[in-house]
Amino acid sequence: MTDPLQVTVIGAGTMGNGIAQTFATFGHQVTLVEVAQEGLDRGLNTIRKSLDRFVKKEKMSQEESDQIFQRIEGSLDLEVGVANADMVVEAVFENEQVKKDIFKSLDKAAPKGCILATNTSSISITSIASVTQRPESVVGMHFMNPVPLMKLVELIKGEKTDAKVVERTKAIAEGIGKTVGVAEDYAGFVANRILMPMINEAAFTLYEGIATREDIDTIMKLGMNHPMGPLTLADFIGIDVCVNILDYLYQQFGDPKFRCAPNLRRMVEAGKLGRKAGEGFYSYT
Ligand code: NAD
Repeated sequence: MTDPLQVTVIGAGTMGNGIAQTFATFGHQVTLVEVAQEGLDRGLNTIRKSLDRFVKKEKMSQEESDQIFQRIEGSLDLEVGVANADMVVEAVFENEQVKKDIFKSLDKAAPKGCILATNTSSISITSIASVTQRPESVVGMHFMNPVPLMKLVELIKGEKTDAKVVERTKAIAEGIGKTVGVAEDYAGFVANRILMPMINEAAFTLYEGIATREDIDTIMKLGMNHPMGPLTLADFIGIDVCVNILDYLYQQFGDPKFRCAPNLRRMVEAGKLGRKAGEGFYSYT
């Protein structure tokens, strides 16, 4: 691992709390920033429960788990939270304007030389960086869910990202146990550009009555040696998230291969958003 850093994570949701936990596990000092106490408490509680599971599985001792948790402090003030940061990882909603507002604040409040990373899964790094006076310090650091378990970080170079910032971010990611794949800054990068058309085609296959949801998942899971079928995976990611990414890919490339399947869109309208809603392609009640 690299020397302990002061890392500030913005957003304590699904990804933010996992990112905070992972940095703290590898000895870094973490500040977790949220907009409201409720969200912060929820994020910290999720981290505590996740660490408890590692203790239960005898992957770490209770003492180690307590030390990791103590390395994470919460903050409701972004400017205070980033004042001493060596690195910031932004993990708020996948909304370009929300992210740009945060990067404007980071530009004012974060120390010079601080790496400004975003965990966006599809939005242009170059566009986010454009609202700052230091686009050379802005980089995409796309973690996978659940962060403490998934090995990959997709590292995205914005048009103006300094090569040294890319190298340093890669070293930091490897220092927290991740393997890095590097991508240029085009919509969906590598992971979602390839994954989303597969999920979309699985949805079309169901829509056109080619096979049942179970058969589609079984064929893809066992046939391709994937850990789960594409429809199960879509439920896990969130159907709304899939639709948003597909719409963004379609808008950016204008290529019909990214047009969203009608049944995916109808599921969103019906609130069948996948696991988090209790219902998606499958029922989770
Ligand atoms: P989420 O909705 O679970 O969490 C977002 C959090 O950000 C919320 O707790 C919200 O209160 C907080 N927030 C919003 N505005 C804020 C602000 N101004 N300051 C501080 N906190 C703020 O979302 P998520 O699923 O964790 O996604 C976060 C990012 O990670 C998105 O860009 C998403 O595309 C990306 N991502 C998600 C996944 C996934 O599987 N969920 C995987 C990879 C990347």
